[in-house]
Amino acid sequence: MSLKKLGAALAATTLALTLSACGSGSSTNLQALKIGIKIDQPGLGLKDGDTYSGFDVDVATYIANKLGTTTDKITFIPAPSAQRETLIESGQVDLVVATYSITDARKEKVSFAGPYFIAGQSLLVRADDDSITGIDSLAGKKLCSVTGSTSAQQIKDKVPGVNLQEFSTYSECVAALTASAKTIDALTTDDTILAGFAAQAANLGKVKLVGGTFSTENYGVGLKKGNTDLCTKVTEAIKAMIADGSWQKAVDTNLGPAGFTPRAGNPPTPAACS
Ligand code: GLU
Repeated sequence: MSLKKLGAALAATTLALTLSACGSGSSTNLQALKIGIKIDQPGLGLKDGDTYSGFDVDVATYIANKLGTTTDKITFIPAPSAQRETLIESGQVDLVVATYSITDARKEKVSFAGPYFIAGQSLLVRADDDSITGIDSLAGKKLCSVTGSTSAQQIKDKVPGVNLQEFSTYSECVAALTASAKTIDALTTDDTILAGFAAQAANLGKVKLVGGTFSTENYGVGLKKGNTDLCTKVTEAIKAMIADGSWQKAVDTNLGPAGFTPRAGNPPTPAACS
C-alpha cells in the first residue's frame, strides 16, 4: 500500500470511528425512529401484511412525525410484553408504544413519557359462561395472561393461588379461550385489549367482558433510561396530539368500532420527565 493510500485508509478509519463514537452516545436518529409495537392486538397494535393499525400505531406515528421521522421512515418492531424493557435497553428500539403501563419496577430499567392513555384490567370469558362474573368467581377456573405483563402479576397478587397460564401473547390466550378443548376459561388483561378481541369478526358472539375493571393502567411511551431530552420531546408530542384533536380522532377510529369508551381521566395529562 502506498503512503498516500495508507493515509487515506487511516483517515477513513478515523472518520468511521468518530462517526460511530457519535452514534454510540445518547443521540437518537430522529429521522428514522425504530418503534416497538404490538402486532396482534386489534384496535391497539395490529400487523396485517405490511400494514400496521391501531391506537398505539397512531400515537407512535404522530410522535415520530413530530420528532422528525416521516411515516415511511418509521421501522416498527414487534414488542411482546416480556421483551419491552430488553428491546429498549439493548437499543433495538428507540421507543416502545405497546399498551405499556408505567410502573415503578419498569422505571428501574427504562424511562417513560406519558401517560397518553388510562386503561384498566378486566376479564374476558366465553359468551355462554355465566359462572365467572368478576374477580371473586375465579376459584377453580383456568386463567390465561401474558408473561411480563402487569396483568399476570396483578391477578396473582389479587387472587392468591389462581390457576394461571402465562403465554407470550394475548392472541394465544384468545385462541385457547375460544377453542373447543376449553383449556382456558378466562383471559385477563387491559379492558382496551379485551374489547378489541371481543369485536374481532372471528370472536363476535363467542366472548364477553365481565367484572368491570380492577386496576389502573397508565400507558406510557418507553425509552432509554435517563434520556430526558428524548423523553421531553415525546411528552411535548403527546401534549400536541391531545391538544389538536388527533388523540380523540385516534380513539374514535381505533377503539370506537369495538364500542369502547375510555374511562374518566382520559385524555390524561402527561407527567414531566425526570
Ligand atoms: N398494560 C399492561 C402491561 O403493560 C398489560 C398489557 C400488555 O401486556 O401489553 O403489562
